[in-house]
Amino acid sequence: MKINCEVEVTYTLSHGGYAGKSFRSKAALCVGRKETSKSKLVCRDRKDQIFLLLTTAKNTNGTKYFVEGNVEKIYYKFVKEGKATIKFKEPAHLLSISKADPRQLHILIQLLQLSPAKQRQETLVPLLPSKVNTADPVPTKLVVISQAKYPVKGFPTTLERFEAVGINLNRIDKRLANLQSLAYLDLSNNHISEVPESLQNVSLVELKLSGNKIEEYPLALCLGTISSSLRSLDLSRNLLTNLPGNFVQLKGLVRLKLDCNQLTTLPKCFGKLTNLKYLSASSNQITVLPHTFKRLQLESIDLFGNPFSGPGLLRRCADLSLPCLQELAARTIRRERLRYSPQILPVRICHYLDSAKQCLCGKACFDSYLHHVALLNLHNISSTVTSVDPQGNTRVTVEIFLCSARCMKLWNSKQ
Ligand SMILES: [Zn+2]
Repeated sequence: MKINCEVEVTYTLSHGGYAGKSFRSKAALCVGRKETSKSKLVCRDRKDQIFLLLTTAKNTNGTKYFVEGNVEKIYYKFVKEGKATIKFKEPAHLLSISKADPRQLHILIQLLQLSPAKQRQETLVPLLPSKVNTADPVPTKLVVISQAKYPVKGFPTTLERFEAVGINLNRIDKRLANLQSLAYLDLSNNHISEVPESLQNVSLVELKLSGNKIEEYPLALCLGTISSSLRSLDLSRNLLTNLPGNFVQLKGLVRLKLDCNQLTTLPKCFGKLTNLKYLSASSNQITVLPHTFKRLQLESIDLFGNPFSGPGLLRRCADLSLPCLQELAARTIRRERLRYSPQILPVRICHYLDSAKQCLCGKACFDSYLHHVALLNLHNISSTVTSVDPQGNTRVTVEIFLCSARCMKLWNSKQ
């Protein structure tokens, strides 16, 4: 077998000291049999020997490493990333392998770890110096520029970047979810309407889906592996009307683009995106923002072209100081974080509990509250601000709920 990779050789002294290092270079590693001379044959009582042959562009004849009893140690913790280190006794070399196909490298290591008896049973090709492939040993980037060039047979397992922009794709290939190294995915300007939930298992750092027909960002893509890996998300120019409440689980998000959708607001806990630095949601239908929006600390914000409502009182319940029993019971359930479900409570009550609004004090309220729309100057939350209208206005509205006469008094005193 032969694998293309990069190898750095560390020359160690037999007593364990350090003697030098080669440059990391593109290389080919082959495992095979080599006929030994007749005298050795008699001496060792074997028909043939297994060797590992390391060939580089400079060393085309290669360096041979006898395998049986000569492998001192194999470090294979990062074999899934295409990396491993093999330590030989004679010559005392340490081969640091990288950029190998993880599957092939795994097979090679398994072969080296077999017992001598089992190694002898393996069918291996005769060992010959092989030409080093000077091209990138493993493909990590794939840019598809037309549908005719789409990889219908599948993707290299080592893929880190995949771009297929403006090639009339109707759906996202589900096989992408199997690529463990995929970090960058750009499928902008296609006709995609659905995002597969299985993408939650991919540790994507950047996801670009602008200019498609996506109506819903799946809840599943706020959970799983992607929730901690994603740094940049571009969903601009789609058909989104809302984002799931769990969107704030994408805690690592630094850059978010939501321009040109049909969003009417942002998730209640949006302010929990504490790493967010760049936000644009221009040309949507946002009339009011959640009050947690005030907590953001951004580098730049663009909310141009949204129909923000004017400030004022929206709703005031009859008697803020005397909530009904149902409200008091529901507040207690929320405060004590008691679990509820349609199995233990009537569905109507579950819906009531789900309708909780959060007061500035952090407590939940249901029917008994004061609903205000207040102004927020975007300069308070961002270093760079794009005005929200052609007149240069930088103030937006945020909604506020107040659960009691005490909270109302406190809030009034701060205005
Ligand atoms: Zn309150």
